Amino acid sequence: MSIPLLVGNWKMHGNRSECVERARKIVRGLRKVAGLAEVALAPPYTGLACVKEVLKGSNVRLAAQNCHWEESGAYTGEISPLMLTEIGCDYVILGHSERRHILNENDQMIARKIVAALRVGLRPIVCVGETLAERRAGHTRSVIARQLRFALKATAKAAIQHVEIAYEPVWAIGTGQNATPKQIGQVHTQIRKFLLKSFGAAKGHRIRILYGGSVRPENAEALMSTPEVNGLLVGGASLSPDTFLPIVHSISA
Ligand code: PEP
Repeated sequence: MSIPLLVGNWKMHGNRSECVERARKIVRGLRKVAGLAEVALAPPYTGLACVKEVLKGSNVRLAAQNCHWEESGAYTGEISPLMLTEIGCDYVILGHSERRHILNENDQMIARKIVAALRVGLRPIVCVGETLAERRAGHTRSVIARQLRFALKATAKAAIQHVEIAYEPVWAIGTGQNATPKQIGQVHTQIRKFLLKSFGAAKGHRIRILYGGSVRPENAEALMSTPEVNGLLVGGASLSPDTFLPIVHSISA
């Protein structure tokens, strides 16, 4: 297993100068943990290029929050994976629940985006997760199984090593409510089993499975010590270096 991956998803927060300032503080604060954890920042589109400038010469990676599945075309308002590589993105978050549930992205669209991202050398961070209603109805397992099956069915065995998975229970995102270690362990174990079965032991063991949902400095260490948690996807707490840096420090100690 490679080192833990920690991703800060800034969503639609911050103008260019705020993004630069935030990224600068994070890069400065991470010098001590170089090599112990991999960190990626996902600013809004308008912040990608200026944050890339800040990240130059550091080990911090750049992530986008979404992309289209075509390299170019008549898709008003969209951005292609190729355009993201032009800016210097390393990762792209795909299938985030806010895109699935607010912008109606479906499993088929997400699968096409994953293939398109991989084709141009972007590493997709593929988000899966159940809603509260689905959990209460006892459908968590089947929802996760369906999302994984669709998302990765067109991903070649050779390419899977470039994919990261993030389990984000929708009810835990931005709510201050974490999934319990037991709930996280159950879903991460299910995901690991799926990866092993679909892509073989050598590859299946190496894919990182991140947890996301109200990660804070106070709970990061405990979340990271849950079996099969290989990194964290952080939303709200990544918006301030004062909360993001302690998370990185706690998981790379
Ligand atoms: C997210 O946006 O992926 C997320 C997990 O947000 P938060 O940490 O704010 O719950």
